[in-house]
Amino acid sequence: MNKLVFTIILVAIISFPSATQSSPDQVVKSIFNEALTSNEAYENLRFLCKNTAGRIAGTSEAAAAVEFTRQVMEEMNISRVFLQKVSVPHWERGTVEFGKIVSSQFGELEVPVSALGASPGTGKNGVISDIVEVKSIGELETLGMEKVKGKIVFFNCPMDPALENTFSAYGRAVSQRTAGPAAAAKYGATGVVVRSLTLAHDDVPHTGVTRYNENGPCIPAVAISTNGADTLSLWLESDTGLKFHFTTDCRNYPETESANVVGEIKGTVFPDEIITIGGHLDAWGPGEGAQDDGGGCIQSIEVLRLFKVLGIKPKRTIRAVMFMDEEMTQSGAIEYIRWAEEHNEKHYAALESDRGVLSPVGFGFSAEGERLGNLYELKKYFEPYGIHWFKQGGGGADIGPLRKFGTLLISYIPDTQRYFDYHHSANDSFETVNHRELQLGSAAIASLVYLIDLYDL
Ligand SMILES: [Zn+2]
Repeated sequence: MNKLVFTIILVAIISFPSATQSSPDQVVKSIFNEALTSNEAYENLRFLCKNTAGRIAGTSEAAAAVEFTRQVMEEMNISRVFLQKVSVPHWERGTVEFGKIVSSQFGELEVPVSALGASPGTGKNGVISDIVEVKSIGELETLGMEKVKGKIVFFNCPMDPALENTFSAYGRAVSQRTAGPAAAAKYGATGVVVRSLTLAHDDVPHTGVTRYNENGPCIPAVAISTNGADTLSLWLESDTGLKFHFTTDCRNYPETESANVVGEIKGTVFPDEIITIGGHLDAWGPGEGAQDDGGGCIQSIEVLRLFKVLGIKPKRTIRAVMFMDEEMTQSGAIEYIRWAEEHNEKHYAALESDRGVLSPVGFGFSAEGERLGNLYELKKYFEPYGIHWFKQGGGGADIGPLRKFGTLLISYIPDTQRYFDYHHSANDSFETVNHRELQLGSAAIASLVYLIDLYDL
């Protein structure tokens, strides 16, 4: 053996101590080191964003995302990669999204709009009607049929910037989008315009799903940018005869087959016990779905890669899941739990990353008492990286159904102050993701999973 080869081997031994012989401290450090110095996850996210942008469930872009993430995990040579087939709604945004305020006093002004998911299109000529502004579904109900019939309803309830938590602000305002159009249709409205759910004052509409009553009327609905909403409201104050005109060519198609994508590293001691880490693969066009939730999917895959390259042999099976159709009907999550019941799977813990991939701050846990106290003890491993927000309360749209098994549910919590600047809009691009923030998150999730498995928490 020449000196150079010997030196390389020696360096390799020193750099990569076997995970089984290392202290938990050393293993966590090696996870962070590997994550922060590798480009793989970041480049995988770039590919996903640039090649499957606008991957609404049921579309060809979503199918391409299923295939890409399946291939990435196949190439990692892990224990098992498989698809869980699922039937999903199929809605296409189309190519026409046009909105205009028409005022006899102020003239005409084009404003940015975007169709709400599941909305029917308007037809070629669009919808043009008088417009009535409300702040809530309650206010709409007090107006009643007499003041709503034949008009466009404008829901204009801003997210509250004074609330401490941006998700709370979103949660309090979101019903105008999810339930507003169905309520307005009941009172004979011709269409609905909803203020974008973002704290930013911008010119980009933020879309999202709306839900119609099964046998009720289905009227076209769009989101309007926050700046557009402010102007519309201001003009309405002095011109009550103002009209709104919008045109969309979005469309609902019959359900189509898609899939959850699953990859696993088998456990060495309790292979039947599963720790699931997941995000959702579907996203809203016209963005790239980087923060919501391509980043969460790529972090889940990255956890498997970190275990694999560092030679960490988990006692339990570690499973990464790319859930399909979180945004419309959560059919992927429903199929996931159906599958789990059919196969008598034991879900030890499940973690969801679906709050963006900005800088990590901590985790929420669906535990209490002694178990919660033991989980809080893990904080010391994360504090050097500024990750110390360990709180009670964990879950997510995709892992939530596992609650009925008594599974420990964990929310991955990044800094969410800017999340709604991107959420469900064209702003949600790969360029908003910072390599270091993404990978601090991947490493934090991998480390938490490693420690929970190691200490049987
Ligand atoms: Zn999401």
